[in-house]
Amino acid sequence: MSSNETLVGQTLRELKELLVSWNEPAYRGDQLARWLYRPVASIDEMSNLPVELRDRLAQEMVHHPCMIQTVRQSIDGTRKYLLALGDGQLIESVFIPETDRATVCISTQVGCQMGCTFCATGARGFARNLTAGEIVDQILQVALDVGSIPTNVVYMGMGEPLANFAALLKSIEIINSPWGLNIGIRQITVSTCGLVPGIRRLQEAGLGLTLAVSLHAADDEKRSRIMPINRTFGLDELLQTLHGYVRATNRRITIEYALMAGFNDTKEDARSLIRILKGLLCHVNLIPVNPIQKGIHQRPQSSEVKKFLSWLQRGGLEVSIRKERGGDIEAACGQLKGQWEET
Ligand code: SF4
Repeated sequence: MSSNETLVGQTLRELKELLVSWNEPAYRGDQLARWLYRPVASIDEMSNLPVELRDRLAQEMVHHPCMIQTVRQSIDGTRKYLLALGDGQLIESVFIPETDRATVCISTQVGCQMGCTFCATGARGFARNLTAGEIVDQILQVALDVGSIPTNVVYMGMGEPLANFAALLKSIEIINSPWGLNIGIRQITVSTCGLVPGIRRLQEAGLGLTLAVSLHAADDEKRSRIMPINRTFGLDELLQTLHGYVRATNRRITIEYALMAGFNDTKEDARSLIRILKGLLCHVNLIPVNPIQKGIHQRPQSSEVKKFLSWLQRGGLEVSIRKERGGDIEAACGQLKGQWEET
């Protein structure tokens, strides 16, 4: 093992293999996993591991692959984190406390290749995939900061999760396992821009998590203008894949629809959306697009948002308007990193 391999991000099996290769009994792997996947800042705190083992772990391995660089707190309690990785790259995570749950929104890539025109992350290009350890450690860094493990995880930060599939699956195993963070699979949401082969692979993995799909337009011409992925996987193929996903998993899909004034918020747009979602087990989340975005992506008046909502409801869709959180600290994806780099 290399000296910069991280401990957070290893499965129980891998930890046992590591410790057995160091001539330790396998049960030390169980002990180590229990320490790693709770909010523990340093190897010194792992009090039931022998001092010599703790010393060797500290010398030869990296405990946490992420380090908090800066935190901003919104008046509504939302906390946004800029995290530094071992190679100096920066990623974002967001903590959203609510009365009945505490959600952490995590990143899966440094930047993103998908190029959605409304997204600050997409505009900055792509640097690299995150490791499973860097994905999981975002949750641990938040837990260390707020004092407890969040109840819910959404893969909705920087990057396209399904474009980093192996690390995504490994991180889900660690987050969901009783020896890991022990967060229920139904409390985990993976959000995609519509990477059809990835959705199929996720379906084959047989996990009961929630799939969220960023749709944002109900016809191919409009969707291709704002989401280049649509030129490869158009709406017909995407929707067929989603029907297959629901049949195989029996799970309701979340459809994300960012409302942009005059672009996708007309009655005709509502009609198209109702038509293409007919018969799909789904819930539509309407998101008034973030006010800092420029160009065609203007935020509609709240009266227009409500009108769009009622059109969809009358068309038989299950729909809600996403509650805005952290607006005063620019909580949308990519924004904090952008500001940090510009200062
Ligand atoms: S919206 Fe998501 S998929 Fe699209 S560019 Fe931004 S991070 Fe990538």
